[in-house]
Amino acid sequence: MGVSVEVLASGSRGNSTIVQSSTTRILVDAGISCRETFKRMKAAGDDPHSLSAILITHEHTDHVSGLLVLARKLKIPVFMTGATHQAWSRAMRDADGERPQLDRVEFFSSGRSFHIGDIAVMPFTIPHDAADPVGFTFRAEGMKIAVATDLGYMPASVRDQLRGCDLLVLESNHDVEMLRVGAYPWSVKQRVMSRVGHLSNSALAEFFATDYDGSASYIVLAHLSEENNHPELARSAAEKALSGRLWGNRVLLATQAEAMQPIRF
Ligand SMILES: [Zn+2]
Ligand SMILES: [Zn+2]
Repeated sequence: MGVSVEVLASGSRGNSTIVQSSTTRILVDAGISCRETFKRMKAAGDDPHSLSAILITHEHTDHVSGLLVLARKLKIPVFMTGATHQAWSRAMRDADGERPQLDRVEFFSSGRSFHIGDIAVMPFTIPHDAADPVGFTFRAEGMKIAVATDLGYMPASVRDQLRGCDLLVLESNHDVEMLRVGAYPWSVKQRVMSRVGHLSNSALAEFFATDYDGSASYIVLAHLSEENNHPELARSAAEKALSGRLWGNRVLLATQAEAMQPIRF
């Protein structure tokens, strides 16, 4: 079986990715409904009940909207930081002020690695307007995988985590010009463009052109804006920056509407 990654959904209407080894299967974010998660997994020939754990990057709706139902139905542990859990449960209070209960929640801290089964997980802080947002690297069976979306810019601390990866799932959220002239209200444009917003095609290209080590066989461009980006703009910005360094990495695009083909090692 080996290590594989499958992006089930990616974008502002829901994010969810499966990272798995031969023995452990982690759902990274639960941003689409339980029903849709099951549907997309089954379409790929995967049994949702084989998931080992759910891992949450931050409490924004597009990363947690399916969390409660999924966790209850699958009866598997949910891993998140304490601050993310607090922000999530505050936001999820019902009309009586009751906070939602997860049967099994495990807290981790950014910068401290831990294991889920045989997968070593390293959470790292990303600049984003949430309580305690993180990206992750995963190590299993000699492979290293990084997932980093929802970041306003790419600080040196994040660039360090992305070294030596066999697969990168990175945000390529918007084309700056499309966002600038687009229909979003100015306040939203400012949020997206800010240092705690979302990563543009050109900011990601700058990383590829200056700091990227060329180690990944696959680069998945993720969390693309449907309003302020075109898949081909994102792809060409990344490929141009990569070819300038003569890295022959394959660039793939994650989409909102359907799951990607699993990437297997
Ligand atoms: Zn977010
Ligand atoms: Zn998001």
